[in-house]
Amino acid sequence: MTPINKATLYIETVMIRSKFYNTLLITLITVTCITIILQIFSLKKTLVLQPDTHKAVKAISDQSLNGTSSATLIKNNNKWLLKCNIQASSYNWPFCEIALNFFEAPYSKSMKGLDLSSYSSIQLKAKYLNHPNSSIRIQLRNYNDSYAKIDDDSTWKYIGIEYWPDDMGITEIPMKSLQVASWWLNEQKIPIHLSAPEFDSVMVIEISTGNKIKPGQYMLELEYIKFTGKFFTNSQVLYTLIALWVFSAIIVLLLNLKHSREKLTNTAREAQELKQLNQLLNVKTKTLKDKAERDPLTGALNRSGIQPYFTQKQKKLSLIFIDIDHFKLINDIHGHLVGDEILKEFVKTISENCRNTDIIARWGGEEFLLVCPDTLLSEAFELAQLLRKIMDEKTWVNNIKLTSSFGVAQRGDESASDFIERADKALYDAKARGRNQVVMSKPTSHLNPLI
Ligand code: GH3
Ligand code: MG
Ligand code: MG
Repeated sequence: MTPINKATLYIETVMIRSKFYNTLLITLITVTCITIILQIFSLKKTLVLQPDTHKAVKAISDQSLNGTSSATLIKNNNKWLLKCNIQASSYNWPFCEIALNFFEAPYSKSMKGLDLSSYSSIQLKAKYLNHPNSSIRIQLRNYNDSYAKIDDDSTWKYIGIEYWPDDMGITEIPMKSLQVASWWLNEQKIPIHLSAPEFDSVMVIEISTGNKIKPGQYMLELEYIKFTGKFFTNSQVLYTLIALWVFSAIIVLLLNLKHSREKLTNTAREAQELKQLNQLLNVKTKTLKDKAERDPLTGALNRSGIQPYFTQKQKKLSLIFIDIDHFKLINDIHGHLVGDEILKEFVKTISENCRNTDIIARWGGEEFLLVCPDTLLSEAFELAQLLRKIMDEKTWVNNIKLTSSFGVAQRGDESASDFIERADKALYDAKARGRNQVVMSKPTSHLNPLI
């Protein structure tokens, strides 16, 4: 992939990611706002109790507590009508009531009544048809086995309120206005921690005559009892929203983590690729340098390749100029290819028989330079003699025999070209003296050899 493609891909990825984050944020804000609005204005539930839907209803009077009042219940026009005759008796608190039951016998300890704990308000439509100024009580009777016995309804918690209905009879009562009757707490010796109102297991709802009702005939009409509440509590909504935000934040964090890891891996891979590229470039540079500085046929350095070895002025730098004798003849007799083979073999033979520090270069055609650092003229002469002997004794490809001539010089206080020229001159002398020999270029008086 090209760097431009990579950059484009990177920009696209960044844009997709930021689009995702924006969408997520907008979605979260929208969901939160809608949920809050729904929670405030909608998402309500209601429970309506009226004669058509609730059948387990009966009339109760104080006769159950040794009073003498009487009560009968009839259904009329989808309303309950309680006919009540309140009479003074030995029982001090005469009453009649409509009791809506939410349990079915037989009793069992694990019995549960109606759970009204999620409702927040009660609406009642109830009124006296003949005593408009009398009060009405509503009592929810909650069962909890921590303080009550299931088969003794006097132990079920009394949670209620007494109120005076208006002419229409519609009354709105917040659930939190209901209180536990203090006489009941007192009678049952309920500990404080169990004394609060509770509505999770309401066994009976009682719509009853007021506390201080006077003897007489009463007609109490009850049309409905309506409970309303939020579908979810505010805490539930709050916790859900918090969970949603936290979950989204975790997702974003994880995605960021994943992205950082990928970026790290990519960077490491790119660094590796760059390293490899660099190595490749180094190899290519070296190859190019070699190509520029080496003779392709023999692998020896060429003229420009050998130059650096002359630029530094060294003490004891010697040079052997070598030329194959009558090489043209070999080409003529055996062909150019054989000549090439011999040139290669010639360089190889010199390399194998000189010192590691000596450097061979092809000066041109069948002429070679052997540069010998840290070498005295006499030592170079000896080496040249050895090479001459080896070349002379060696049998070459196609059983060819050949000889070589050598010119040897040691560098004095002179330029590189003068130095090479002196060695070349010595070689010329060797040729002139009949070839297959080594000639030393003696330092002349004007030269001031470094050694
Ligand atoms: P002398 O002893 O005087 O050096 O005689 P010579 O024949 O060796 O010298 P001359 O300069 O007359 O000829 C050199 C020959 O080397 C001529 C040319 O054909 C041959 N030669 C030069 N470069 C190459 C090469 O790359 N390959 C081959 N096969 N021959 C080459
Ligand atoms: Mg020659
Ligand atoms: Mg020559």
